Amino acid sequence: MTVKEQVAVAEELERYLGDPHDPASPMSFAKIIDLDEREEFPYELVGLLQRWQVHQYCLPAAFGGRAGDVEVGFNLLRLVARRDPTTATALMLTNLAFMPTWIAGTDEQKRHFVGAINRGARMAWGLSERDHGSDVLSNEMRAEKVHGGYLLTGEKWLIGNATVADVVSVQARTSERGGPGGWSIFAVDKRRCPAGSVVHLPNERIHGLRALDMSGIRLDGVFVPDSARLGAEGQGLELALKSGQVARTTINGMGLGAVDTAMRVTLDFVTERVIFGQKVIDVPYTRRQLAESFADMIVADAVTTGAVRGLQANPGQASIYSSVVKYYVPTSLERTLSQLSVVLGARLYLRSHPHYGIYQKMLRDALVAIFADGNTVVNLKNVALQLDGLLEKVGGPVTPEADARVQAQYDLDATLPEWNPADQQLFSRGADDTVLLLPDAVRRLREQAGVHPDERQRHWLSRAADVAESLHQELDRVRAEVGRLREAHGKGYAGTAELFRLAEQYCAVHAAAATAHLFTRSARALAEPFPDGALLLMCLERLARQFHPVRPVTDQEVVDRVVEILRGLHSGRQLFSFWQFQLSASGERR
Ligand SMILES: Cc1cc2nc3c(=O)[nH]c(=O)nc-3n(C[C@H](O)[C@H](O)[C@H](O)COP(=O)(O)OP(=O)(O)OC[C@H]3O[C@@H](n4cnc5c(N)ncnc54)[C@H](O)[C@@H]3O)c2cc1C
Repeated sequence: MTVKEQVAVAEELERYLGDPHDPASPMSFAKIIDLDEREEFPYELVGLLQRWQVHQYCLPAAFGGRAGDVEVGFNLLRLVARRDPTTATALMLTNLAFMPTWIAGTDEQKRHFVGAINRGARMAWGLSERDHGSDVLSNEMRAEKVHGGYLLTGEKWLIGNATVADVVSVQARTSERGGPGGWSIFAVDKRRCPAGSVVHLPNERIHGLRALDMSGIRLDGVFVPDSARLGAEGQGLELALKSGQVARTTINGMGLGAVDTAMRVTLDFVTERVIFGQKVIDVPYTRRQLAESFADMIVADAVTTGAVRGLQANPGQASIYSSVVKYYVPTSLERTLSQLSVVLGARLYLRSHPHYGIYQKMLRDALVAIFADGNTVVNLKNVALQLDGLLEKVGGPVTPEADARVQAQYDLDATLPEWNPADQQLFSRGADDTVLLLPDAVRRLREQAGVHPDERQRHWLSRAADVAESLHQELDRVRAEVGRLREAHGKGYAGTAELFRLAEQYCAVHAAAATAHLFTRSARALAEPFPDGALLLMCLERLARQFHPVRPVTDQEVVDRVVEILRGLHSGRQLFSFWQFQLSASGERR
């Protein structure tokens, strides 16, 4: 879909859902907070969105859905999440649970489940077990082969939607030996199981997403037919990992949506609140905090956009960018939220304030991205274990194919190849085009700096190119440090905390490259005020601060320009993103 087409779909959804600050609108903050306080599953809101058919944008078109490009479904869920991450999660879980069918199911299974979801079936993703957490290879649920099917025995715990779902996709051991080939995935359709055989575990009371159904299931020799197995016997781990790559990438819509609302209500506050004789937004320290928070949001937006588009444009490298984005974005957005909390002050604590009450909910809900669909540390480990190979390729030759992939990932108007999640690979073999082509982004920035008609922009773009280049040079040091670690620890270097810290630094460079690519490759596709040299400079300087925390940062002119852009998006009621969606939002009702 072109940018123009996506904007039209997103804005149609926004109009349908109405102004969230208006208690009479279909999806109002008042209703959302009430459900959250009562810890009541948001049936009404899920139904509202199902009537609009939001779920269809995440189901394959060939089998009765409407999914063309992943980013369309991603952006719609992000708009739902800016109102209520709980409702967005409840919807997203069905799509995640369907993913193994999409990857490896038969055509009949695909038609069957897409049809069921279109008729309102809810699904859950049953991977986790109480005793094993991230160590899924130790999971104990068993599937014993019998004539015509399998007998499933075991428990899945902390499963979103487990009780309200009609179907739970579970991962179970099909070989006693376990190991990577010892697992399979089954779609347990509760409506086809004997009454009472699927035991629902009690609902867990949770810190955020309080209205979500957070429970589990216990099975004791429950029969499922052969047709319930998704993919081949033994393919379960591969399907879980590939489905996980999609989830790790798209879950960031929750955080981006939640932080958008947090920033919006914070701006509602600082643009009106007068303290010590001046508006809060005019206090220099607060201005800088807001500008920095906005720049961090834009970096998170760029790295997520590249990864979401990468699922189609670059499925071979999904293992690397899905882990980078799942480590980097929740970690960064958590920092943004704590910064915004300082700006908003006491109002963040007011749960039933008619205008600011939604902030505390966003603060709690956004945390889900830190552990769900692969803990932050597990993702960092995935990057750490590939670091050697990735660094070996840095500075190496760039093929025309790699350049074309980066263009498709970061030019928002580029046509993407058809989404086929089966094409995603479990290892990227050291390839990360985003970082490999960082020097190319630097070259493009210098070119733009040379020809831009505005003198200030020329200056900012040129400084941005310098910072991007210096970030690229950090990788030489990272490579040397990895070498020293290997020498000091031998094979054991892979488990050292130092390697994880170096992986964090690699992720920061990847984020810088993603931001620079999006600014340069999407220049024509972006609407005013993007792309802007001051904003890019601030984004890159924020990343550079992770390497040099005490170096002087951007000057006042840059901060003022970034705040000007931020205020323009706020007063124009547009998403704080490269995606210029007109929102149904008002700051007046407070
Ligand atoms: C709100 C919510 C929704 C959820 N939804 C679902 C769902 O729908 N389906 C589902 O299957 N599960 C779901 N879960 C379960 C969740 O995804 C698991 O809890 C998670 O995968 C396991 O991580 P953990 O945080 O429990 O950490 P554990 O695996 O118990 O690990 C503990 C800590 O050890 C460290 N650590 C872990 N692994 C490593 C490693 N490899 N290397 C180094 N350090 C490590 C980390 O710091 C981690 O926090 C949900 C949980 C919650 C709270």
